[in-house]
This record gives sequence, C-alpha cells and structure tokens, in this order.
Amino acid sequence: MQVLERNSTFVQNAYIPAIPDILASPIEYLKGVGPQRADLLKKELNIFTFNDLLNHFPHRHIDKTKVSFIKDIHPDTEYIQVAGSLHNIDVVGIKKGKRMVATLRDKTGSLELAWFQGITWLQKYLESGQQYLVFGRVTFFQGRPQIVHPEMEILTAEKVDGKSFLEPIYPTTEKLRAKALGGRQIGKLTQVMMKSISDKVIPENLPDSILQKLKLISRFNAYSQIHFPANVQEYEDAVKRLKFEELFIAQLRMARLRSQRHRFSHGVKFEKVGELFNIFYTKYLPFELTGAQKRVIREIRKDTATGKQMNRLLQGDVGSGKTMVALITMLIAADNGYQSCMMAPTEVLARQHHNNITSLVKDMPVEAGLLTGSTKVAERKSIQQKLDDGSMHILIGTHAIIEKNVQFKNLGIGIIDEQHKFGVAQRAMLWEKNVRNDTPPHILVMTATPIPRTLAMTAYGDLDYSVIDEMPPGRQPVTTVHRFEKDRSKVMGFLKDEIAKGRQVYIIFPLIEESDKMDYENLMKGYENVKAWFPEPAYWISMVHGRQKPDQKNINMQRFVGGDTHIMVSTTVIEVGVDVPNASVMVIESAEKFGLSQLHQLRGRVGRGADKSYCILLTGPNLGNDARERMKIMTSTNNGFIIAEKDLDMRGPGDIEGTKQSGVLNFKLASIVQDRSVLETARRFAEDIVSSDPELSSAENLRIKSYLQAIQGKTAWSRIS
Ligand code: ADP
Ligand code: MG
Repeated sequence: MQVLERNSTFVQNAYIPAIPDILASPIEYLKGVGPQRADLLKKELNIFTFNDLLNHFPHRHIDKTKVSFIKDIHPDTEYIQVAGSLHNIDVVGIKKGKRMVATLRDKTGSLELAWFQGITWLQKYLESGQQYLVFGRVTFFQGRPQIVHPEMEILTAEKVDGKSFLEPIYPTTEKLRAKALGGRQIGKLTQVMMKSISDKVIPENLPDSILQKLKLISRFNAYSQIHFPANVQEYEDAVKRLKFEELFIAQLRMARLRSQRHRFSHGVKFEKVGELFNIFYTKYLPFELTGAQKRVIREIRKDTATGKQMNRLLQGDVGSGKTMVALITMLIAADNGYQSCMMAPTEVLARQHHNNITSLVKDMPVEAGLLTGSTKVAERKSIQQKLDDGSMHILIGTHAIIEKNVQFKNLGIGIIDEQHKFGVAQRAMLWEKNVRNDTPPHILVMTATPIPRTLAMTAYGDLDYSVIDEMPPGRQPVTTVHRFEKDRSKVMGFLKDEIAKGRQVYIIFPLIEESDKMDYENLMKGYENVKAWFPEPAYWISMVHGRQKPDQKNINMQRFVGGDTHIMVSTTVIEVGVDVPNASVMVIESAEKFGLSQLHQLRGRVGRGADKSYCILLTGPNLGNDARERMKIMTSTNNGFIIAEKDLDMRGPGDIEGTKQSGVLNFKLASIVQDRSVLETARRFAEDIVSSDPELSSAENLRIKSYLQAIQGKTAWSRIS
C-alpha cells in the first residue's frame, strides 16, 4: 500500500529538513534574477532565498484570457488588462518631473501610460508600433485614464487565445516594477523556480491521519497551487491547507511548551493550606466568594501543589473580583513559607491594592510592602532588607518590582495585574527574582477585561487558563447611554441630582498620549468647564492626570476615595482597577475617541457598590460608522467577553492591546478573526497529539517532530513567558 510505504521510508530517514538545500539557495542563483534584481528583491521584499520567493504568495489571480477594451474603462475600474499598439513614446519634464509617456491604442480608444523610473532601460525595451498586453491599476489624470508603471509584455497569439487559467499577481513595489519585476513578472520567476522543485523539496509535515480527516491536500501541492492553480477550487484547497498548517504548527508548539512545563519544570511547592488562609477565610473575608472565584482558587491550588511551575492566565470581566483571588493565593504562598509579589501598571493602582490588602490583613501577622517609582531610598532599603530576611510576605508595586536590584529571599509566586500593560519580557523578568535558588516562582497573569478566546489561544496559548465567569452577587448592571454634545446641560443636571443623593461622579477626558500637548490642553479646558458647572464650595473636584507628580496624584485620588470630593476629572490613568464603590456615574467625554475595551474598562469603575450606576458616553454630532457601532455595542451589553469579541471583529488582532509586541499573531495567511474555526480545530488536533504522544515519537508524528526541529529558533516566539 502506498501510504504505508511512504511511512516506512519516512521512518528510516527520520530527519527531513524543513528547508532543504535548494530552497536555501540565494535568490541570485535563480535563472532570470542576477545580482541587480537580487539586490532589489532583498531590499524591497525581503526575498533572500528560493524559500522566501516560494513563500511570497500572490495576493490575487487574474483570468489572463480576459482582455478588456479601452472604452470599457470607467471611474470605478481598478485593475485592467488591455491589448493594443504602443505609440508616441516620449520623455517629458526634467529632474523630478521627468517621466516617460506613451499611448496605447486598441480599436475602441486610447489610454496613456506613464513611467517615472527606469526610463533609460524602458526606452531600449519598448518599441513603438509593437502590440502589447498591458496590465495595471487605472488612475485618472485630468479626467483621462492612465496606467502608471504598467506591466507590459509583447502580445502573441497564444497569450490571448490560450486556454483559461489563473495568473498570479504578487505584491511588489514601484522600484521593482521599474526593473520589470511587477506583480505579474514575479510570477515568472516563481514559475522558473517551481520547475526545479519536487515534492522531496517540500516534504509533508502533517501526519496522514490529519490530512485524511480534514481532507487537506499535500504540502507540495498546496505550494504549487497557491501560486499556479488550475482553477478556483485548487487555489482554495491550497489556502485551506496552508492556513491550517500555520495555525496548527503554532498551536502545537504552545501545547508542547505547556506539556513540557507540566512534566519537567521545577516549581516551588505549596503543599498546604495553612493558618493564614484559614484565619482570613473565616474571620476577615468581607464577603462570600463567588462560585467562580472558588473554582479558580482551587485550580491555582491544584497547580501550585504539584512541584511543577504554574504559568496561568486568569481572565475575568472588570469587577469580577480578581484581586481577592490574588490575595488569597498570596496568603497560601505565605502559609507555605514563600513570599509573593503583585505588579500593577500604574502607581495609583498599586497604591490602591496596597491600601486594600493592608487593611484586609491588618489584624493578621502578614507584612505587605509597597514599592513604586516614587518610593524613597530609605524606604527602598528597608523593603529590600525585609525581602532579604523573609519578614516581608507580600510586595505590591509597579514596574519598580522587576528592576534588577530587587531580590527576594524565596519568591513563590509573581502576580501581574492588568496584563495588557506589560510585555512578554517583563513577565519573564519575574522568573529571576530569587537570590538563593534558581527555582522560578509561579506566575499568575490577570487580564483587565476579557480578551477574545482566539487571541488568548494564540497570544497566551502556552499558559494554562482560568476564567471568572460570574459577577459578585447584588451587582446592578450599569445603565449605559449615548448622549450628544447638545444634551450637555441635561447630562450635567443629572450629575447634580446624583451628587445630591450622596453619590460621586467620574468625568473622563481622552488623553491618549500623556505627552500629547493638545490632549492635555483639552483636559485643562474640560476641567475649567466642569468647574463652571460645578462651582465651589457647593462642589469639590479632584483631578488626576499623567503629568502630575505621584504625590499630587495620590492626594487627589485619596480625597475622592475618602468622599471629600464629588467629582473626579481624569484621563485614562484611572482606567484600570480603581475601586471607589460610592461612585455611581461615569461620564466619558469624546467617547468616540476611545476603543471598545477602554470604554468597557472605564465603565467598570462604576457599578461597584449597591447603588444604581450609569455610564454616559458623550460624543460630538458627527460620528463615523465605526464610532457609531462602538456606541451601539456599549449601550447594548455589559458583558466584557462579548465586547472583546466585537472589538476583535472591528479592529483586527493587530490593534488589540498587549499583543503588538508579541509577534505571535503575525500569521501569513491565517487570520484569528476570519479563521476562528480553523484555529479551534488546529488547537484540538495539537492538544490531542501532545497528550497522546508528547515526545512526537510515533511513526506518524515523526515528520512533525523533524519539522519543528528544523524551524527551531527561526521564529520569534520559541518561548513566551
Ligand atoms: P477586578 O476583577 O476588576 O480586578 P476587583 O477585584 O477590583 O475586580 O473587585 C471589584 C469589587 O468587587 C471590589 O470592590 C471587591 O471588593 C468586590 N468583590 C470581589 N469579590 C466579591 C464577592 N465575592 N462578593 C462581593 N464583592 C466582591
Ligand atoms: Mg483589578
């Protein structure tokens, strides 16, 4: 049987390089390239080798037999292929304005062609009176159609009458086009290269069982067909196969990282739940934990008791009570003789966590310190001292915690709050915080608001995963409305009513970049405006923004927290985490300038107490489609998991916070938005394989194993955290 035979030869030659020699050849060795074009291909498209060219996929195919008439060009025409004779070749203009022009005529009309580069070369190459097949993007110049840098080839009978097939058009650049390497000419090179390549050069890397179950074509066929499909079906089969491969390989690598951590990592062991946990749970816990909080704590306990290192992502909607999970986890660490730290993205938030935690454990033998950028030298020394001798159990702080000189006696767990504000590298730095032993601490990463499942699977796919999918009881959903600028006086009246009931109010201004002068001036104007509506001494206002000194920020924050001020005017520095249960209204000015997750996060600042709460999105009168859609989503749901999915749909993965630097979302063909179901399938298959054959040593899995070995180190994310 053929399949068996392939398998058995495969086992004998277990090593199949992913990029065999011919594909590693420098691009200048390809017939038709040469040093000059090679240089350009490298500079312009990053094509250095045959393999790079093989992976430079066409972005469209055109039916080459379709030749239009010039008279059919209309203002909406994008790309067109026409055939005709070339006339009036001329060079006009001087210096920067210098260009070559010519007229192409068919029996229905004429079209202007223009070139700005490569003129000397083109003059030799193009012939007046000759018949050409011309392809390019149509633009209009003074009302007349023209093609700039068209792709030209001499028209032969065969080219027009040939049987129907799809010609690939590749991404290219103006410079390449000027050297006759336009979108279709690159295909000629690819064609030459493909002739020298067999299925041995592009060996299969997926197990046969997967190919069969998912009806995927072979890797070699996929590469041939994505460039040169005989028909649309062939192209789609190729894309389907290559997208799956891309997502599957990524998921497999993450599943293996997870599996390796579960099997081989060395971690500190939290063997017991001790006195601190018990005292806290029975005496000081201010509320009953939700079922979801209990479940997550159990998951964490189970992980941390194994002696392997835990690396876990905790997702929960804003207000779902992640902080309490963090505190209880830290108490369990202390019960086992380990220290813990919790890192927050802003000083305001770190301080708030510290205040909360110290007041919750004030009657217990637990020492919790605060370390931020503004901690004074003497205090720093004292903290370091206590970290060294082990008398400090919990350290809460900002990025200051990961600075090199901060060391622990025995750090058992590092918690990162609001993970999207931290990069991968910063997470990794927590691994090296123990002076005297090299056992890494457990890591718990908490999101600010949920991130979409597909994103979590790719950006954090090597982490274990917990969800708090239940809100503390008694929460009333926040009522969200969208109001226009013209309704301002009504809105302000409403705020006065709420304040009269004893509530407090946030008014948020967009300050995207703390350094942006314009935004800052807007904030100041906004503040004056708020003061005019709410004059002293009837009303008191706090203001917090990124340009204030930490002390000033803190005083303003504390006055609001303590109920001394009625209104908090702020930028998004209070976006994350801040918890003032008495605040019941969130007004977001210029709400159209904020993204969905930011709006949701800001809204999460209210609705934390027992009172009915409101979020008012104020916008200008003229909203773009996207902004209107965002307002609609915000007013129709309070569910952060739903909002996260919508956000991904609207913006695409590139813009989702916290994933930009990670590089793991840069798939060539696949998209975690459009190809969700492929991603789910890829993950399922990857997990099945890793759980049944973690070392990939079965005959069937050997080909994936050798492929992974061959690409090892060639991608950005061989290790994520
Ligand atoms: P987030 O998940 O957004 O970080 P927090 O941890 O700040 O949420 O919790 C939000 C609010 O809910 C806090 O005031 C917290 O004390 C309160 N809270 C947390 N868990 C519970 C619970 N099980 N029951 C009642 N209130 C809770
Ligand atoms: Mg929080």
